[in-house]
Amino acid sequence: MQCGNCSVVCSLAPENKPFPRKEMIWAGWGMKDKLIGNPDVWLCHQCGDCSTYCPRGVKPADILSAVREVSYQHYAKPKFLGKILSSPKWLPAAILIPVIIISAILYLAGTLQIPEGPVNYSKFFPHAWLNSSFTILWFLTIGLGVLGLRNFWNDMKKQNPELKITGSFFKNLFSNFKEIMQHSNFSKCSNQKSRKIAHVLVFYGFILLLIVTAFAIYAAVTHQYPLGLFNPFKVLGNVAAVMLFIGLTVMIIKRVTDKENYGNSSYADWLFLISMFLLTISGVIVETARFLNWSIAYHLYFFHLICVWFIIIYLPYTKFGHLLYRAVAMTFDKSVNRDYSKKNED
Ligand code: SF4
Ligand code: SF4
Repeated sequence: MQCGNCSVVCSLAPENKPFPRKEMIWAGWGMKDKLIGNPDVWLCHQCGDCSTYCPRGVKPADILSAVREVSYQHYAKPKFLGKILSSPKWLPAAILIPVIIISAILYLAGTLQIPEGPVNYSKFFPHAWLNSSFTILWFLTIGLGVLGLRNFWNDMKKQNPELKITGSFFKNLFSNFKEIMQHSNFSKCSNQKSRKIAHVLVFYGFILLLIVTAFAIYAAVTHQYPLGLFNPFKVLGNVAAVMLFIGLTVMIIKRVTDKENYGNSSYADWLFLISMFLLTISGVIVETARFLNWSIAYHLYFFHLICVWFIIIYLPYTKFGHLLYRAVAMTFDKSVNRDYSKKNED
């Protein structure tokens, strides 16, 4: 109907070229290139306000979410990783890749067997092998992600030739730091107040987990591992697990019970949420299995590593990649002096 209600109710749409009405027109006309190389698709926080107030039931929030999912595949390097993470029919292949690679690393380390005696994960996956292999793989995946982001940046420039880029990329990126840390744009969405709390819990829970992991690597290198149950970093790791568990549980329950406001959940939504949830739960179970010397501890540990892979190694190809794409889209808007966060502040 092109009434424009969606752009009016969107608290994040700037006055200069607001979204999502124009995206709905492009989608209707099949203008894929314009949609993919469009920063606004990532400025949307999927609050669902536009879908709620659309008189035609078009669900713009779901359509922008679908465009973001297509973008992960479009910018994926190598392409096949984007493809196998885009559909449930490829899930066995997505699981098989880490199973084969982790087994190969264990084979090279000479530890591809269940060790005897009390549970000690470093006997199964020596710390030097674990830390070096996962660090190399993580840098590799981030490097490939950056190649995709560079193409996204070039597409945004191509689709908006009238906009002039000013300032350095890193300076503009850093100027978004406060908004990213505070998640203040989530507060502007009127429909789903619980989203911000859940999102912040998951965001900070994950950051805490990264800090704890960095310390765990340091502890392994300096031979302080394994850490005792009351080691401050162990306690912090458990606090992070609780934050992630609560945040993810709220997200999952809301997606199942409140489809009217949360919209339809796609495979990408569930793949990310369930991978993160399993990572959290398996981390706690693996820790318990070590202290209680469970016989299946090493199998659980292997499963936990697959979950870690889905979150950190597959990051640019899953919904978790939104943190990279959104940061780059926000930086683009800063670079062209189009500050979308200013709406409704006056
Ligand atoms: S998507 Fe809905 S609210 Fe937006 S312009 Fe079309 S009919 Fe109006
Ligand atoms: S889902 Fe929310 S943030 Fe996204 S376009 Fe609609 S109203 Fe704006």
